Amino acid sequence: MSNISEKVQAVFQEPGCAKNRAKLEKERKKGCTKQLQPGAAAGGCAFDGAKIALQPITDVVHLVHGPIACEGNSWDNRGSKSSDSLLYRMGFTTDIQEMDVVYGGEKRLFRAIKEAIDRYDPPAVFVYQTCVPALIGDDIEAVCQAAKKQFGRPVVPVQSPGFAGSKNLGNKLAGEALLDHVIGTEEPSNTTPYDVNIIGEYNLAGELWQVQPLFDQLGIRILACISGNAKYREIASCHRAKATMLVCSKAMINIARKMEERYGIPFFEGSFYGISDMSDALRNLAGLLVGRGAPAELLSKTELLIRREEQKAWEKLKVYQKRLAGKRVLLITGGVKSWSVVSALQEVGMEIVGTSVKKSTEEDKERIKKVMGEEAHMIEEMTPREMYRMLKEARADIMLSGGRSQFVALKAKMPWLDINQERHHAYAGYEGMVALVAEIDRALYNPVWQEVRLPAPWSEG
Ligand code: SF4
Repeated sequence: MSNISEKVQAVFQEPGCAKNRAKLEKERKKGCTKQLQPGAAAGGCAFDGAKIALQPITDVVHLVHGPIACEGNSWDNRGSKSSDSLLYRMGFTTDIQEMDVVYGGEKRLFRAIKEAIDRYDPPAVFVYQTCVPALIGDDIEAVCQAAKKQFGRPVVPVQSPGFAGSKNLGNKLAGEALLDHVIGTEEPSNTTPYDVNIIGEYNLAGELWQVQPLFDQLGIRILACISGNAKYREIASCHRAKATMLVCSKAMINIARKMEERYGIPFFEGSFYGISDMSDALRNLAGLLVGRGAPAELLSKTELLIRREEQKAWEKLKVYQKRLAGKRVLLITGGVKSWSVVSALQEVGMEIVGTSVKKSTEEDKERIKKVMGEEAHMIEEMTPREMYRMLKEARADIMLSGGRSQFVALKAKMPWLDINQERHHAYAGYEGMVALVAEIDRALYNPVWQEVRLPAPWSEG
């Protein structure tokens, strides 16, 4: 248990996190979890956060040590796509019972690891700690070590029981598990001056595949993506990359910073959403690679590609620009999307009437001010009732949010588009920006809105 609290404290001290840096020593120890108001939804637990962060690693067994409901709640909750193995979509749990609570669940865990290896032969097994076994004192580190010795393959303990804290903390604890047990344990078959890591990209709806062809055209090789469409061996050998791009600053900044510290891999924070952000990402990556020995011609090649792709995207967007100009958007998301999607939509002439910053860092907020001006309407907390009123009074033409708020928009009979992790469309890169705008256009001009706003036949007369 002390191991968990030490890890949690270490994560709270993360010097790469601007929010942490701004806090006093005492406040920092308390961590980032806000006291919930009665009636508020708690969001995911730390285990959920760790599982979400690592589950996109496609070829390993993700074994949850705990009662069956923990795995049931977290299974497949993100639409991360795989180009190869589908093992990551299979649910594995030790499903501990009352007798395990009395006598301990370590033997059961060991047997489950053995069974998973015997039946599926994965390159590694990730074992997730949950509340109940952590409270009864099951030592998953010791079991994983014994299993690794016995079965001759990596068994990675992920120390993130739900009670440790929030989903966001779980993301970071998942990063710590990779740093402690996976990264740097293998060597890549070859290296090039063009090897990069992408951290915080989960290949939701296949978004990585929208940007990968651009990298391919420049000869840039993604050594590992943490964790979208990743294979165990790619992550184990990603310490040989020359540069890192950090996509969602909040979730896994500890991996990027510690890899810079340990292996000297420089990183920058960027986004794949929006035309100019995509171009900046390519530019920055090329700049870092050239700084680390790649031929300087990479810079001119990158500029050429940016010019060509931007031109192509703007050509496709022309048709929407007229239809969407001046349309007002209410953006309820968070983190990196709170600013990257803003600039993306402004590029096609839409007006952002508000963007939520509940899950955003101070740096995210600064970026919002940069793209929306000092007067930016940043929403710290918006109740469903306020959201409903805003839409009902037509102060926004469309709401972009996660699935949980969709019913607010539908009740107000206003268009809504899913841009959070459960979305089914990919919005990254130049191609993704065109897809996002096309989806907004489709939602806004869907004839269903006229129909549902008409009075019901029985209420007429
Ligand atoms: S809070 Fe604990 S018991 Fe609940 S899902 Fe998370 S790990 Fe499982």
